[in-house]
Amino acid sequence: MSLRGPLKFADADSNFEESHFVVLGAPFDKTTTFRAGTRFAPTAIREASANFEPYMFEHGISFSDIPFHDSGDLHDEGTADDMVASVEEGARRIVGAGKFPIVIGGEHSVTPPVVKAFGEDIAVVIIDAHLDYQNEYQGLRNSHACAHRRVADIVGEGNVFAFGVRSYSDEEDFEEAVFVDALRIHEHGCEEEFEKALSCLKERPIYLSLDIDGIDPAFAPGTGTPEPFGLTPFDVKYIINRLGDRLVGFDVVEVSPPYDNGNTSLLAARFIKEVIAVKWKAMNSK
Ligand code: MN
Ligand code: MN
Repeated sequence: MSLRGPLKFADADSNFEESHFVVLGAPFDKTTTFRAGTRFAPTAIREASANFEPYMFEHGISFSDIPFHDSGDLHDEGTADDMVASVEEGARRIVGAGKFPIVIGGEHSVTPPVVKAFGEDIAVVIIDAHLDYQNEYQGLRNSHACAHRRVADIVGEGNVFAFGVRSYSDEEDFEEAVFVDALRIHEHGCEEEFEKALSCLKERPIYLSLDIDGIDPAFAPGTGTPEPFGLTPFDVKYIINRLGDRLVGFDVVEVSPPYDNGNTSLLAARFIKEVIAVKWKAMNSK
């Protein structure tokens, strides 16, 4: 039996210094409440990434030409607070070097520390079935159920909204949160509603956080807390392309391989490729 090197995201063949895009795995699921398993997602998504051709015809880009690095995974040790500190440190290393972080969760609690690494001068778009606007959940401020709220604490009001929401608790301060609900998106169309939401954000670079459960469970069944009436994969593809050059970072969270038929990890890998292709194309068309 031969030993294999650590599994990398497909075509992530460049070293850290020469890369513009850097993948970082955060296999953390300690605050998960319903069904755990997102700690397996970074590996499952890397495996799924091998399914795709390096060439993306609609962008006219081959991944063999993109400087792209996979930093591997952070260790899943300690408390939620330890995890948040280690994600922030990992993200700072990437952002501080002027690179584009692509964080693979893990649960949604990995997002606020990545946003923090950028400081307060960015805006954030969150795609999620859940509002995640609890101030504290089960005694934890760093719970996945507080992700949106913690991001709002960092970037401030008017610089974050959630899109595709269809579940929140009456214990949340939902009247303070900015979000577009999924039923409205279904009624008026993704383009119209996204345009309206985007026009309310200040003109800042944008970080996109994709909680995979924002997409309908028919397309993305492998997640801890699935909710019917979600977005389609085409909606999310549209959003990534609409954000285009404004994108400065991306995460995909809440993929749970034990509940997956394989399609959810594939979709997550495909969105990572979409983000990289869109940003790379925008950077090189100036
Ligand atoms: Mn979430
Ligand atoms: Mn969610």
